Amino acid sequence: MNPVRFAFLTVVFAIASCAQPAPAPVAEVAPASTYKDAEYTVQAILYHQFGSEYRALCYQAYNLATERLLAKVKANPKSKLAIITDLDETVVDNSYYNAWLVSQGSGYNPETWKEWTAQRKATIVPGSKAFFDLADSLGVTIFYVSNRGVDEYDATLANLQALGLPQLDSTHFYLKTTTSGKEERRQAIYAQGYEVALYLGDNLNDFAKDFEKQNNERRHELTDSLKGKFGAEYIVLPNAIYGEWEVALYNYNHELSPAQKDSIRKSVLKAY
Ligand SMILES: [Mg+2]
Repeated sequence: MNPVRFAFLTVVFAIASCAQPAPAPVAEVAPASTYKDAEYTVQAILYHQFGSEYRALCYQAYNLATERLLAKVKANPKSKLAIITDLDETVVDNSYYNAWLVSQGSGYNPETWKEWTAQRKATIVPGSKAFFDLADSLGVTIFYVSNRGVDEYDATLANLQALGLPQLDSTHFYLKTTTSGKEERRQAIYAQGYEVALYLGDNLNDFAKDFEKQNNERRHELTDSLKGKFGAEYIVLPNAIYGEWEVALYNYNHELSPAQKDSIRKSVLKAY
């Protein structure tokens, strides 16, 4: 080969070799500062948004609620009947906020939550509108008892109005003022002479104060002791994305870092 041509090809080859992509670095455990807080919720959000099983569970809950309500109205024609229902992940779906948290690599934050609710983009939980419309047509009073803050009232009202839910005026809303515990608000409803036919929620705190601030072992015991009420008086909606069950894992410690919470989640798993 012509020596000049040989040298030229050698240089081309050398340049081509340098252009090869470097081997992928070995995956490393992210240090605490870069740990993506919401990453672990991806599977639950996917189930919520894409699992037809999730939808079926919602229909199952509302079908059961319908059956129970019809029976209670029939059995108590003269009673002042009411329903106490939670809003988030019971009547409306906010999984879009959780998906956004994943995209941002950040955890729940009251400020970003309020930015989400101000958008009024929550969608209806399958089966819920038909159920509340039926309750309304039967003359049953609906109380929306939610831990959305009173400062979220206008946006929440507009969101629910757009979804066509009934009985939307301020007398039917009990939003959070000072405490996330709902017992005081339930008592205020009982004090008006209502007989509560059904409670609906995705969090056991939506049903009874006994569950509040308890560890998961105690929550299990209480759930077992109340087993006859589920599907009868308490209608539970599925929510694997977040809830008191998760906060209880952290012993209600809100000071833990995302990495510490991740460590707890993995350490408590029951493996064989
Ligand atoms: Mg809820």
